[in-house]
Amino acid sequence: MGNTTEVIAHERPHPLGIRDKYDGGTVFPKRYAAPSQRPLFPPEKAESIALDRPVATTKDAPAMNLSECVVDKITAAQMNWVRTTPQIATSDPDV
Ligand SMILES: [Zn+2]
Repeated sequence: MGNTTEVIAHERPHPLGIRDKYDGGTVFPKRYAAPSQRPLFPPEKAESIALDRPVATTKDAPAMNLSECVVDKITAAQMNWVRTTPQIATSDPDV
C-alpha cells in the first residue's frame, strides 16, 4: 500500500487506539477484510488497518487503490462504529 489516500485511511484510526493488523504475517483472521469469504482467496478487499491483503496463506499483495480498502467489523467495533464485537472464527478455514 503506497497511495496517499490508502495511507491516510490506514493511519486515521491510530489516534483512536487502533493498532496495526499487519504484524505476524498473514495471520487468520485478523489480516482478512472478509474472513468468512469462500473461497478465501483471492480476497476482493484489503482491510485498511492490515495494509496489504493476503492472497495466499503466506503471501500478501497491496491494494491498488482506496476503493479496494475496507474497515472490517472488528476494527469498526474497536472504533465504536458498531455496538457489538462480531464473532469471527479464529481457526484457518479450508482453502
Ligand atoms: Zn499503522
